[in-house]
Amino acid sequence: MANYDYDIGVIGGGAAGLTVAAGASQLGVKTLLIEKEPKLGGDCLHYGCVPSKALIKSASVYHKMRHAEDYGLPKVNLPPVDFKQVTDRIQSIIDTIQVHDSEERFCSLGVKVEYGEASFVDDHVVEFNGKRVSAKFWVLATGSEAVGLPIPGLDKIDYWTNKDIFTLEELPSSLIVVGGGPIGCEMAQSFARLGSDVRILQRNCQVLAAEDEDMAEIVQDAFKGEGIGLDLCADTKEIRAVDGGYEVEYECEGSTRIIKADKILVAAGRAPSIGSLKLENAGVEYDLRGVNVDNRLRTSQKHIFAAGDITGKYQFTHAAGYEGGIVISNAVFRLPRKVDYTWLPWCTYTEPELASVGMNEKAAKKAEIEYTIYEEKFVDNDRAQAEGATAGKIKLVLDKKEKPLGVQIVGHHAGELAAEWVAALNAKAGLSTLASAMHPYPTVSEINKRVASKVLSPKLFSDKVRKTLGFIFDYKGRACTLD
Ligand SMILES: Cc1cc2nc3c(=O)[nH]c(=O)nc-3n(C[C@H](O)[C@H](O)[C@H](O)COP(=O)(O)OP(=O)(O)OC[C@H]3O[C@@H](n4cnc5c(N)ncnc54)[C@H](O)[C@@H]3O)c2cc1C
Repeated sequence: MANYDYDIGVIGGGAAGLTVAAGASQLGVKTLLIEKEPKLGGDCLHYGCVPSKALIKSASVYHKMRHAEDYGLPKVNLPPVDFKQVTDRIQSIIDTIQVHDSEERFCSLGVKVEYGEASFVDDHVVEFNGKRVSAKFWVLATGSEAVGLPIPGLDKIDYWTNKDIFTLEELPSSLIVVGGGPIGCEMAQSFARLGSDVRILQRNCQVLAAEDEDMAEIVQDAFKGEGIGLDLCADTKEIRAVDGGYEVEYECEGSTRIIKADKILVAAGRAPSIGSLKLENAGVEYDLRGVNVDNRLRTSQKHIFAAGDITGKYQFTHAAGYEGGIVISNAVFRLPRKVDYTWLPWCTYTEPELASVGMNEKAAKKAEIEYTIYEEKFVDNDRAQAEGATAGKIKLVLDKKEKPLGVQIVGHHAGELAAEWVAALNAKAGLSTLASAMHPYPTVSEINKRVASKVLSPKLFSDKVRKTLGFIFDYKGRACTLD
């Protein structure tokens, strides 16, 4: 039997890699973790979820201060934002969380952490910093990176990606965000709320292209209300550096338009980080979307697994963590556990937030599944009224048998509201469980109960039930009727 240096080697110290390393090591597996950056934590901690949510919070507070009168408070004349203070706060939040993702903590769990850019020598041996190590199993968890689009001129300008914006010292006075996906939308709204003049340039004719049009439209309406420019259905032709900034030429509905700004942020998709891995040496197959894996997350080499963004599937931190758990089941316990994304949730943290669990209408149509929808509006929720956050709705997508296919929520705290559905749907709890469960009043979570009740109430308050009760108990029927 071959004698390897490690039982498991993990390449990439982000959400997926850290999950595998921590879990495997605590199960007595000799584990190596290789990270190319000087700190663990990956994109989520340093350039993704954490800094973006911290920025969103600062922007949201400033926005509310600017709109103090909406809450019956005195109008405030605010000084402009000192962006350095905002990014200092972001960095201090990252530093606090870093402790949890530190080398010391992982060493205390038994993981050997090494720093360097890893590449395969063969299917069991990896090289970094001129050093070679072998492992029985390898896990590829190198994540993804922002893609620069094949737009003429883009390669000649100094544009920003998510790697640049969280350490800036100054707020740009104007910004074009290329890409209206989750990252583009979250960042566009934040910069606009902090005082930049922002336009979103989006190829698709709606922002958040994976979401249902009616849900995305509610986000778009909020953006318009806040003065964010939306250039949709935009086929970008060229980006040029001009005096004091950049201009973008695009075609839309047959006409050519030009927009200008100080800075360009490209948030137009992600590509797997596989360039440096030399996967050919290990015989691992991949394509432009990512490393090919089966439903147990095994690559074309059965002892090499892949998890997280590198697979090109669902690029979320919670998906990466979940996939890390699947890898542990398969590689450590040697149990054939498969991935199941049926109830995978996600959320875009704009205001209003847009959250999704399971199928939306677009997905149901694509899968040619017959469905019905039930909706409930935030405007009818007492807490949403009290909060002054009445935009949005919840949409339940049901199959023919009235079983949930998915839930879509756009509105105040949609991401938090989705969590109840995640638990209920995973537990296979029926809609009646949600409808009959007491929810605290007044909370926006009552919207979950209300939409579930909406499916059931026509059956309860039906003529048939009324007639049956009347027959048995001799009820006399309506006491009042409007003319
Ligand atoms: C702006 C932004 C906001 C986001 N917001 C959210 C959010 O709110 N919620 C959410 O769920 N997701 C969010 N995401 C997505 C989330 O960050 C990713 O899905 C998650 O980080 C993927 O984890 P991962 O482990 O696959 O990759 P990563 O976290 O990127 O980790 C990969 C690691 O591998 C290292 N690496 C790469 N190549 C090598 C090599 N050859 N050798 C050694 N190390 C290597 C990298 O340095 C990196 O540390 C956001 C992303 C961005 C960009």
